[in-house]
Amino acid sequence: MKEMFSRSPKNLIRPLVHKLHAYVPGEQPKINGLIKLNTNENPYPPSPKVLHAVRAAVDDRLRLYPNPTAERLRAKLAKLHHCKPENIIIGNGSDECLAMAVRAFVEPQSESRVRSPKSRVSGATLQYFTPSYSLYPVLADIHGAVKRAVPLKSDFSLPGLAALKRGRQWDFDAALTLVTTPNAPGGRGYSTRELDALCKAQRGVVVLDEAYVDFANDNAMKLALRHPHVLVARTFSKAYSLCFQRVGYFVGHPELIAALDKIRDSYNVNGLGQVAAEATLDDLGYYRANFKKIITTRTWLSRELTSLGFRVLPSQTNFILARPPLFSAKEWLQKLRDRKILVRWFSAPEVRDYLRVTIGTQHEAVALTRAARAILKADP
Ligand SMILES: *Cc1c(COP(=O)(O)O)cnc(C)c1O
Repeated sequence: MKEMFSRSPKNLIRPLVHKLHAYVPGEQPKINGLIKLNTNENPYPPSPKVLHAVRAAVDDRLRLYPNPTAERLRAKLAKLHHCKPENIIIGNGSDECLAMAVRAFVEPQSESRVRSPKSRVSGATLQYFTPSYSLYPVLADIHGAVKRAVPLKSDFSLPGLAALKRGRQWDFDAALTLVTTPNAPGGRGYSTRELDALCKAQRGVVVLDEAYVDFANDNAMKLALRHPHVLVARTFSKAYSLCFQRVGYFVGHPELIAALDKIRDSYNVNGLGQVAAEATLDDLGYYRANFKKIITTRTWLSRELTSLGFRVLPSQTNFILARPPLFSAKEWLQKLRDRKILVRWFSAPEVRDYLRVTIGTQHEAVALTRAARAILKADP
């Protein structure tokens, strides 16, 4: 390297970027026969109709730019959610929508004075609960926003408004508040009633990140269509077996959506992704059957692991958070890996005693409980 470049590019990089800790995605290892339960992917393939639609779209159209605003997809989603296409923006995954929200609603710290002094929201603050989606602090850091991380209750339920007021940590004026609901990695679902109360108390924008909502009893979509400062984030990745295609979206007030649209990359959603997502919406029955299978396996696996001594938290998602017996969670991660089963472990203090296990097929769940039993038996 030294011989190739005449000088170091280090001082060309913004100090903020230099110090940044990038988001760490779950591993995607290439190991034969590996049972992969670490990134909350859906174990079932996309519907045959979706695969057909994508294959049929691979022709000389690849030469052309896709529809810049994903018009057809937005029209279909508007029908599904009983709103207008103006209420919807599509992202290259909901991760991109979240990043756009940070850029549209939060002032970078050094520029926070620019915001009109009359505005009551704390312009530079991005707020979220811990534990929740570990991308949020990374998005804040990239943008130079002020992070405010407020703990959930010890069982990962939402603190009530009175407790948030008493605790004095929570900022009801934060420019942007991100709430993972149902929660990740906790798995707990929150009621629309308690989310509504929280939204009403916030003066800045609230994003309800419903990445796992199809596995839950309740959803908060109506809050995005009732409150002008609330956005609901959805994704085709988890429930609709489409991680590879990167399609997610926000639903909310047309003015917020229009603001986001101004900073969106012109062709942010690739053409095959649009085709796949549209075909998905034409075959929802197929996916609803998969949700049922995953929920049945979730119930079965929770019961089995509990009987082996795991403390399994209640889940409204396609994963469970479980505190394993006998060995530390980190040791379990390795012991399961030795048996070709990959789960996820987070080092954050609130969750370091737990393993996060994606709900795979029933067959994979059986393999996991077998491995767990063998690990417990092997204990000297
Ligand atoms: C997976 C996930 C996302 C991102 O999904 P993409 O649409 O694939 O970008 C967003 N939020 C949460 C909480 C997630 O777990």
